[in-house]
Amino acid sequence: MINKYSKKRDGSKKVSDSFRVREFACKDGSDVIYIDTKLVGYLQRIRNWAGAPVRITSGYRTKSHNAAVGGAGSSYHVKGRAADIVVTGKSVKDVAKYAEAIGVPGIECNEDSRYVHIDTRPGKYYWIRRGGKDITVSGFGGKCPYGEPGNNLRRGSKGNGVRWLQFWLKLWGRSLSVDGDFGKKTEDAVKDIQRRRGLKVDGIAGKKTRAALKGY
Ligand SMILES: [Zn+2]
Repeated sequence: MINKYSKKRDGSKKVSDSFRVREFACKDGSDVIYIDTKLVGYLQRIRNWAGAPVRITSGYRTKSHNAAVGGAGSSYHVKGRAADIVVTGKSVKDVAKYAEAIGVPGIECNEDSRYVHIDTRPGKYYWIRRGGKDITVSGFGGKCPYGEPGNNLRRGSKGNGVRWLQFWLKLWGRSLSVDGDFGKKTEDAVKDIQRRRGLKVDGIAGKKTRAALKGY
């Protein structure tokens, strides 16, 4: 459940044993705060495991603040369903590993900025940020059941090659169905990935885009 709070009115209210409403506030000073109770549950478990403070460096974000910090348009921070955390006395790897073990769906182990991002997205999504790149995907509990296509895929393409593409797009958090039909939603998702990876934004899933999707 996602609850709405006012920083002024509810800031000192506890949302769990160790967390208060104001810790999730947007860094732009906005009064409104959205917090997912599921997210709080995960944070509290991490806090208990660490036995040390968990600092939320970014919790809820307004749309404008999210854009200002370069967050994805579909960022779970905007929905109150994500938190970037720094855990006293624990490495980012250990925190990410623990988060995965307790079933947190969305995890980014950010080795560049030394924080771990967790969120409550519907699918599984695990990535590592290292050297300015998203380099690895794992922890999704299964292999892609479709073979990688050897040809470029574009709007209008159909078949299992498209299903391969859609499987990976889904894994990267895009909401679409794996139906083997390359429509507008699939194209938009491909463009979004291309934009984020610094590739040519043409909506065509060529060799480079496919490699980016696989996380290399
Ligand atoms: Zn984040």
